[in-house]
Amino acid sequence: MTSSADVVVIGGGIAGASIAYELAATRSVVLLEAETALAKHSTARSAATYIPGHGTLAVRALIAASGPRFARLAAELDAPPLLAPRAVVNIAVDDVGEARLAAELVEQAGEPGAPVALEPAEAERRCLVLVPGVVRAAAVVEGAADVDAEALHQAYVRGLRRRGGTVRTGAGATGLERRGGGWRVQAGPDTIDTADVVDAAGAWADLVAGLAGVPRVGLTPLRRTIALVRLPDPARLRVPNGRAPMVREAAERFYFKPEGDGLLVSPADETPVEPHDVRPDELDVATALERVEAVTGLGLRSVQTSWAGLRSFVPDRRPVVGAWPDHPGFHFFAGQGGSGIESAPALAAFGAAVVTGEPVPADIAVVPETLRPSRL
Ligand SMILES: Cc1cc2nc3c(=O)[nH]c(=O)nc-3n(C[C@H](O)[C@H](O)[C@H](O)COP(=O)(O)OP(=O)(O)OC[C@H]3O[C@@H](n4cnc5c(N)ncnc54)[C@H](O)[C@@H]3O)c2cc1C
Repeated sequence: MTSSADVVVIGGGIAGASIAYELAATRSVVLLEAETALAKHSTARSAATYIPGHGTLAVRALIAASGPRFARLAAELDAPPLLAPRAVVNIAVDDVGEARLAAELVEQAGEPGAPVALEPAEAERRCLVLVPGVVRAAAVVEGAADVDAEALHQAYVRGLRRRGGTVRTGAGATGLERRGGGWRVQAGPDTIDTADVVDAAGAWADLVAGLAGVPRVGLTPLRRTIALVRLPDPARLRVPNGRAPMVREAAERFYFKPEGDGLLVSPADETPVEPHDVRPDELDVATALERVEAVTGLGLRSVQTSWAGLRSFVPDRRPVVGAWPDHPGFHFFAGQGGSGIESAPALAAFGAAVVTGEPVPADIAVVPETLRPSRL
């Protein structure tokens, strides 16, 4: 079957769903997903946190601009509240962590949502599970939250359909070829003629570029592991008058946060791998338990479940948004790394502006050149 659309978006994770929704405000859009279900890969495997001050300068600006946009999206798309406030306490437990924390406080001073220094005793008062005396320095990010990542993704897909967009699953892009001023996209037996292609294929984005004969941007997928662990005494997580914070080690060697009656733990691993349906390595799970146990003494032994996902970065750890100058109409929307959920609302609006050539919305303090492939 041959059809046509203004834009074909390749990839049905949070990146593809969010930019497809934004583009559908003014364009006819077809979203293609290779799997039979949407959001099977990184999007379904995140820690689902929103942390102002996380990542490189451009990513921090996107996260800051996303904050108010989450509430607007929930209203616009009839979604439940997408953010549930949960502070993040960054702790340093050795010299390396202390140096990293001090550098982070200096670098981010004055930025919206920047971390604020905390006395170690205050950090331990807020996180009652920490072993007394283990914290050498600390800082808190008060504006952080848990994100309902599934509701966010579903809302974007619902909004895309309401705007007349089409979603095709089990429809991987298998070939792309230049046709006149646009592109011909092959998805199995189907052919779609389009003016613009958006490559939102996550860890696979460079492979999709290869199908189109477009130069790669140099993405490296990094495996990251999460385990849900049972607590011998769940009451230890309870905090009077509030929600227990997430705790993040300042040099990113582990993090943990309450999840139901258990604890979500990660060794914050970054193992380079090829794009694939990644599984957790037992050693990474054991490392997470060991590191979190060392600062909490919670008696963590029993793993309820564990998973791994891919966080894909280019070397400067900024997303890649836009086309190579010699390959117009083939737009990357990739390299979201560890922030694809928390930055989605602003990044999608930014990406749609780049694809359509409109000005970037005024609340997003990032200029298109910062994220274009040509900077690489
Ligand atoms: C353990 C872990 C913890 C994380 N924690 C957080 C967090 O707390 N907060 C946060 O903001 N982010 C977090 N992230 C990062 C976040 O999950 C990612 O940035 C985000 O999900 C990337 O979305 P994506 O749509 O680019 O990729 P994906 O969700 O992987 O989607 C890409 C899609 O493209 C499809 N595809 C590939 N090739 C083709 C093709 N040829 N044709 C059609 N479709 C194709 C794939 O099947 C896939 O569904 C975490 C990630 C991991 C792994």
